[in-house]
Amino acid sequence: MKLITLTNKGIYCPQGKFYIDPWRPVDMAVITHGHADHARWGMKKYLCHHFTKPILHQRIGTDIQCQSVEYGEIIMVNGVQLSLHPAGHIIGSAQIRLEYKGYITVISGDYKVQHDGLSTPFELVKCNEFVTESTFALPIYNWLEVEDLNKKLQNWVLKNRENNKTSVFIGYSLGKAQRIMKAVEGLGKIYVHQSIGKLNEAFETVGIDLPDYTVADFKERPKEMEHEIVIVPPALLDSNTIKKIPDHATAICSGWMQVRGARRWRSADAGFAMSDHADWKGLLETVKATEAEIVHVTHGQTEIFSKYLNEIGVNADVVETLFGEDEEESEKEIIENPES
Ligand SMILES: [Zn+2]
Ligand SMILES: [Zn+2]
Repeated sequence: MKLITLTNKGIYCPQGKFYIDPWRPVDMAVITHGHADHARWGMKKYLCHHFTKPILHQRIGTDIQCQSVEYGEIIMVNGVQLSLHPAGHIIGSAQIRLEYKGYITVISGDYKVQHDGLSTPFELVKCNEFVTESTFALPIYNWLEVEDLNKKLQNWVLKNRENNKTSVFIGYSLGKAQRIMKAVEGLGKIYVHQSIGKLNEAFETVGIDLPDYTVADFKERPKEMEHEIVIVPPALLDSNTIKKIPDHATAICSGWMQVRGARRWRSADAGFAMSDHADWKGLLETVKATEAEIVHVTHGQTEIFSKYLNEIGVNADVVETLFGEDEEESEKEIIENPES
């Protein structure tokens, strides 16, 4: 690795003297996106995209020192040219491009090649060295086109309406919930759990246009949600909160739903393989298209993916990071351990 090295605090750029998504407190942290495993507490200075800033304020604190930039805006840090490029993962998510003496390294963070209609579409950045995630790096993960997937969600809502049922979607609060809102926009009133409402508000402060929604009052007014659409985070599956909603059907939206075994999530009526990460093809095509001479594989199916890349002639190795506690990444636990 030329421009980056792995330390016990995270991925470090020695020339620029900054870290990317560090897991321990450091002086300067460049943040790829707002998920908790990438954006942690305790950094002296944060640098992120404009859309990620309100998320950091919401999740880490309003008193942090945070500089935000536009995609493609170049800033010089100790002689290293640094810029952020759309990663297509969630709103504000960025790949970090570093250039020093003509050598280019890109750290992808989490990324998705499909355009979800909300996040700025993924931008391919050519580089010498590429750090890729590998959450869904197995050939079985093969996503539907976003339009076809959205159609499935819409049809499910319409079917529930015919059967006088309330549609309850389960999807994580930062990223997935907003995508579900967009997919079912116009089909009924949308109610969201307060944790989702807070993040929606943060997005609205930077001018992101979300479909109309109401923050649900499960205690006092569950009845008004009847026959409408409700979105809650995975932690609430099987909870008393959901049980208060009159005659409802539940659907889980997660990349993990593509696997048959995941259907053990016993109480759900439907499952949709909706993911904010690249599928097998997306990962493979991206890695090849960057034309990187060396690829470092982080969180997910690291061993399998780097081995496969080596077999097809791409020079790849595994870099052990502490990422992978992303909301979608950790959903696997909940889905596969229905008793926990
Ligand atoms: Zn992640
Ligand atoms: Zn993430």
